[in-house]
Amino acid sequence: MIDLRSDTVTKPTEAMRKAAYEAEVGDDVYGEDLSVNQLEEKAAEILGKEAALFVTSGTQGNQIAVLTHCRPGQEVIVEQEAHIFYYEGAAMSAFAGIQPRTIKGTRGAMNPEEVLGAIRPDDIHAPETGLICLENTHNRAGGAIIPLENMKEIYTIAKDHHIPVHLDGARLFNASVASGTPVKEFAQFTDSVQICLSKGLGAPVGSIIAGTKDFIKSARKWRKRLGGGLRQVGIIAAPAYVALTEMVDRLEEDHQNAKKLAEGLQQIPTLKVENQVETNIVLVNVGDTGYNAATFLELLRGEGILAVDFGPETIRFTTNYGVTKEQIDTVIHKLQQRL
Ligand SMILES: *Cc1c(COP(=O)(O)O)cnc(C)c1O
Repeated sequence: MIDLRSDTVTKPTEAMRKAAYEAEVGDDVYGEDLSVNQLEEKAAEILGKEAALFVTSGTQGNQIAVLTHCRPGQEVIVEQEAHIFYYEGAAMSAFAGIQPRTIKGTRGAMNPEEVLGAIRPDDIHAPETGLICLENTHNRAGGAIIPLENMKEIYTIAKDHHIPVHLDGARLFNASVASGTPVKEFAQFTDSVQICLSKGLGAPVGSIIAGTKDFIKSARKWRKRLGGGLRQVGIIAAPAYVALTEMVDRLEEDHQNAKKLAEGLQQIPTLKVENQVETNIVLVNVGDTGYNAATFLELLRGEGILAVDFGPETIRFTTNYGVTKEQIDTVIHKLQQRL
């Protein structure tokens, strides 16, 4: 099977398995796991933040950030298709007692003027704006890169109003590699940032959140409350370290494969690539093929290809390190023959 469902489907590399085997471990709730300490220090350094915390997933990291920044009854400004709003089971309402305030973005980027307009005045009727959330790359916008300038403008507005900014950077390294901008430069316009090590970087488990020392101290407590205080966590932190330090540059291959796939599929008259492919996600409209998304997925499966639906007529392909350039050619070739 050529698995283009997600960049989460990859299996750990040999180097990661070896790192897990050889990891120095201890009880992380006592701060004694050397492997996780090393990972957190390295991640903080790469992101240009004072401190970092290893968390079990991107969702956990985002929600810990919301819990740490906000108090119940506040409002969070977020793009209307952001993962933190769209895909996290209303966790910010369920756990943090937060009301989301959504803004429609352009290719995932919120207009700074609209963000400014959404900040609540000091009024007895209004919730306080407790946090602004950004997402880079933007998942549902097809892996779109949020420009640094946009982040800077929103951050400046946030600072003027003493509101913290959290960046859901599950795929921040994709934005960094594709734009040639170090992750630090994106992270400078945030108070906290979450990165996934288990997506394109290929770690079996884990995300990082980073911010000031004080932020991370409170976040560590929230992680414990949520049952995320782990013990000999080096077993998973060591492969995550390999992901962070050795797997970043190869994201370029995923981007090349995504572009190649988009160009190939665009040549098929009944297929329409819906997004401008900047990173590793390709959205393809199949409405003119006579198939809908569900039946198209069956066609793909019959050809040994896995993808996911993204609306009634749209298929999403995500390149990842388990898929080779040759396999991308195979996908294009097979669809040329079938359509
Ligand atoms: C995948 C993803 C997450 C959540 O990560 P999990 O590890 O699956 O919980 C958060 N934000 C974005 C943008 C994502 O793509």
